[in-house]
Amino acid sequence: MADIIQLLPDHVANQIAAGEVVQRPASVVKELLENAIDADATVIKLIIKDAGKTLIQVIDNGKGMSVTDARLSFERHATSKIKAAEDLFNLHTKGFRGEALASIAAIAHVELKTKQQQDEIGTHIKIEGSEVVSQEVVVTPNGTSISVKNLFYNIPARRNFLKSNTVETRHIIDEFHRVALAHPNIEFSLYNNGSELFHLPVSNYRQRLVNTFGSKTNEKLVPVEEETEVLKISGFVVKPEFAKKTRGEQFFFVNNRFIKSSYLNHSVNAAFEGLLKPNTHASYFLYLTVNPKSIDINIHPTKTEIKFDDEHTLYAILRSAVKHSLGQFNIAPVLDFEHDSNLDTPYSYQNKTAQSPMVEVDRTFNPFKEEKPSGSVKQTYKKQNTSSWESLYVGLESKSNGDSEEFSELHFESEDEALTMFNDQAKETQKTFQLKNKYIINTIKSGMLVIDQHRAHQRILYEEFLQQITIKEAISQQLLFPIALHFDTQEIRVLETLKPQLEQTGFMFSKFEEDGVELQGIPTSVTNSQASFVLEQLIHDAQHEVPDSHFSQTDMLAKSLAKSLAIRTGQQLTNEEQEHLVNKLFACKEPTTTPTNKPTFITMNVDDLDKKFM
Ligand code: ADP
Ligand code: MG
Repeated sequence: MADIIQLLPDHVANQIAAGEVVQRPASVVKELLENAIDADATVIKLIIKDAGKTLIQVIDNGKGMSVTDARLSFERHATSKIKAAEDLFNLHTKGFRGEALASIAAIAHVELKTKQQQDEIGTHIKIEGSEVVSQEVVVTPNGTSISVKNLFYNIPARRNFLKSNTVETRHIIDEFHRVALAHPNIEFSLYNNGSELFHLPVSNYRQRLVNTFGSKTNEKLVPVEEETEVLKISGFVVKPEFAKKTRGEQFFFVNNRFIKSSYLNHSVNAAFEGLLKPNTHASYFLYLTVNPKSIDINIHPTKTEIKFDDEHTLYAILRSAVKHSLGQFNIAPVLDFEHDSNLDTPYSYQNKTAQSPMVEVDRTFNPFKEEKPSGSVKQTYKKQNTSSWESLYVGLESKSNGDSEEFSELHFESEDEALTMFNDQAKETQKTFQLKNKYIINTIKSGMLVIDQHRAHQRILYEEFLQQITIKEAISQQLLFPIALHFDTQEIRVLETLKPQLEQTGFMFSKFEEDGVELQGIPTSVTNSQASFVLEQLIHDAQHEVPDSHFSQTDMLAKSLAKSLAIRTGQQLTNEEQEHLVNKLFACKEPTTTPTNKPTFITMNVDDLDKKFM
């Protein structure tokens, strides 16, 4: 029988190898960028067209190649980076297999221009499908430029397999990020279809991240530093509040090489435990340095997975380092109401039943009357310690308050709203600050006050609605065009039981039928567009609250309306609005909690702050 085994021709072998190395344009980008880095380039330019399908070009200012090396670089297993098998265990370069250029040349039109510094002229080689088409001398700058055109031109199946340009470009950018983030000491730029997508100048690691991901990144980063005998860690984690829903920015670099490791990822997540909202993922940029002899990068052809000798130790060190950083930068949930409300609720008051503070109103006060600069300010207090919420405000007021004889009367914000608007003097000294469109920060004598705007407003509205329903009728705004709302019988029945109270708050029904209502008037605090939502929410709350007495029904109604109408987290408030809210809150009967008994604010004393600086 005749021999049937044959050696595959080189170009076929190369094509098969190419399948392993080059899955998509991004793989070419990775190989070319890594070669440029291995050539000690300090400036690297990446140019792509049509997501790399038409052109991928990398230009570097590295050491270049001699005529012979230029020719040899396209041979399989041609590498300048290892000489013996042992070298594999002490790698300091990105490439070592000597098959990237050979593989790429097998499946694309490749053009190489390269020159070494000591040479006068350079080499220009064209290769198509592993065939050298031309080789000539060329005038070219120091370094190397490689263009890869028409990728997979001779493997239509692979070419058709490529994803849309958007997807392939995304892959290229990811690859570019991975390389650029690992080497902030190298200048990188990326041009896509003729326009510059990135220009990353030489910088430190932090600045590289900011240049890559945008200026907002800076404030999100918490540095991580750790050095032990086996492992050095540096880099950053992203503060938990900026965690993403999608698994976005998770970067591990080992010895300046991007790697994927679900094991190490798990370790970082363990450090974040309890700090992330459900379904969000920690982001991190962590640079690990280990002895090259303790890792094996050779297990994966595209080299993004590596094996560590002592994974368990790395896991533990990494986790504690990240945890430590998160703790040090005080990302622990100190300001989280749900967690530590006892600790944060400011005074011994919290378990006592609330009493209305003693109030004296300055009935002679005229908001339109000009005040002398040294004159009394809108709120003054009898004694500093009469009630704890009052004491919160001591120190807030203008220093011009001055003499204690002026602490003779107190009048309430609810009575003097107009004042807030007219008394500029007080405004200057009453400094509030809105944090994350969620909290209002206010200085008080003992330190600072952090108010949850949504909760505070709920308290205010709740008391207003209660008052309206039980004491006085609210003003209703008449609608030019009545609003018709559809409800099912069940819902109408619920609404019916609440109708009298609703009318007290300002709702006016022009029709009340089996399948819906028509509103002819609504409370002044409600806008047209809110009306239906407010009623729907109310019906829902009523159905879930089982009202059994008139009182609890009123209470439920007030709570529900307050919840629906309270300003939201995320809403930006002007200084005036902030102050107004603060003033109104402390004019409430029970300013410390929401109608559902959650804290509306916390205080942080200077003592607390001092401790944090120890
Ligand atoms: P490897 O990087 O694994 O050695 P490659 O096929 O990527 O294999 O490259 C083959 C060789 O070509 C490299 O070892 C290097 O000597 C040379 N080479 C490739 N790209 C460059 C470049 N941009 N500058 C200088 N030399 C290069
Ligand atoms: Mg290489």
